[in-house]
Amino acid sequence: MRRSLVVGNWKMHGSSASIADLLAGLKHDLSVRLDTVDIAVCPPYLFIPQVAELLQGSLLTVGAQNVSDQLEGAYTGEISAAMLAEFGCRYVIVGHSERRAIYGETDQQVAAKFAAVQSLGMLPILCVGETLQQRESGKALELVGQQVSAVVELVGVAAMSRAVVAYEPVWAIGTGKTASSAQAQEVHAHIRQVLAAFDSNIAADIQILYGGSVKPDNAAELFANQDIDGALVGGASLQSADFSAICKAAM
Ligand code: PEP
Repeated sequence: MRRSLVVGNWKMHGSSASIADLLAGLKHDLSVRLDTVDIAVCPPYLFIPQVAELLQGSLLTVGAQNVSDQLEGAYTGEISAAMLAEFGCRYVIVGHSERRAIYGETDQQVAAKFAAVQSLGMLPILCVGETLQQRESGKALELVGQQVSAVVELVGVAAMSRAVVAYEPVWAIGTGKTASSAQAQEVHAHIRQVLAAFDSNIAADIQILYGGSVKPDNAAELFANQDIDGALVGGASLQSADFSAICKAAM
């Protein structure tokens, strides 16, 4: 039985003050253990120590939105996996579509980030997803399958037993358009099938999250699907009431 996982991606939002308010709201709303759900929030790098400290003793964990593909050295402006581990991160998002599209990250870089995260004992959340054009030309399954396989071929299938996959259709991120639960389930099942070609046990056990305009009013329908194990939440994770409601829908 796979546990559910709900992860908030705060992107480049917030200040020390707003984050303190948001966490106070989350700790209040999520103070009762949700036995079958793990919850994490991924703040901008600078706020990770503050969030880790404020979450001590709570049921929530902290993660990061990105990491360097290099382990150490002269890489101005980068943050290493070791630094994220030192400050208490449990999860690190890799290959988010904004990183792929805006910063040109390749599957090779995503795989290197994935490996760096695991080398420090943290769990990578590997994001994959098609653009609207790719969906409309009937290529969604093929494209997502290729993104998953590209990383598996570089890191080895065994590494997928210590990772999470997030399916995030690019056209649904921050747009208010959610994939229908049938569309999402179809891609999630395909991802599991692609992984099963490498290792059926790992495919059966891996958590696959859906991301793309998840809100309190569509979360339960998405989570009711067999292969949807939780959500990666952007906009709605900035409102404590909305994020808490999504976490509760994953129970
Ligand atoms: C995201 O950025 O990972 C995301 C899913 O954003 P939103 O929920 O705002 O669509």
